Amino acid sequence: MVNFAKAFSDYGKALERIVYPPVCQLCSTDLSWFEEIICESCKNSFRKLQPSLCFRCSKEIGPFSARTLCEECSSSTHCIEKTWAIYDFNASLRKFFHQIKFGSRHSPLMIFREEIRTFARQNIPENFSAVVPVPLDWKKRWTRGFNQSKILALFLSQALESPLVELLKKKKPTRPQSILSKRDRERNLAGSFRYSGKQALRKETVLLVDDIYTTGNTVRECGRILKANGAAKIYVFALARAGLGESRDFTFQSLEANR
Ligand SMILES: [Zn+2]
Ligand SMILES: [Zn+2]
Repeated sequence: MVNFAKAFSDYGKALERIVYPPVCQLCSTDLSWFEEIICESCKNSFRKLQPSLCFRCSKEIGPFSARTLCEECSSSTHCIEKTWAIYDFNASLRKFFHQIKFGSRHSPLMIFREEIRTFARQNIPENFSAVVPVPLDWKKRWTRGFNQSKILALFLSQALESPLVELLKKKKPTRPQSILSKRDRERNLAGSFRYSGKQALRKETVLLVDDIYTTGNTVRECGRILKANGAAKIYVFALARAGLGESRDFTFQSLEANR
């Protein structure tokens, strides 16, 4: 049977594309019929992380490295079992995240949905009791209108057939992690999140989801709270992994200040 409502809506969309041809949100060139939000050339400028990756934090440790952990992870212990990340947070991806800060009707993160689905099915074998997004504080949620990590958590929850559960709340706005010294970073986050689940977890395995993994302090603080409330194991997924070296540059700081 013909679905008239859908046909009408598709027709409407097609007409809108003819009258107002969409342009790439990064480079402003006209989009072709099959492209959405950004053009193929801009999408191809997002670089995927290359092996070997640190098992714990997904940092690149060189193509021929026999190590499984980066220097930092081998000299410290923390509550995260493993981190998965797909992209390097390079200049193109920073530009993309900068431009989606200001909201839009359809989340530009939709362009990553298929990639995340494929990645999750190929690389993430675990079953999770909960897929938990890293929360935003009320101020950012209000100004931005949506939590990017929650959209990513939704994609993962669908791909892994594990429930999306918001178990954390952010109590207070914090300063951007990348502009602080190592000690100040931990102090900055201390007490900024709280557990918001109705009941304590019962030795459950949780997948924490963040958009960008920068210093790792945010997910470690969230993981610490989830463990204190009964979680047995914490895994992390981030769409992109930023190298700490890069986080010192000015552009990155100003972008992160918007996050
Ligand atoms: Zn483009
Ligand atoms: Zn590491």
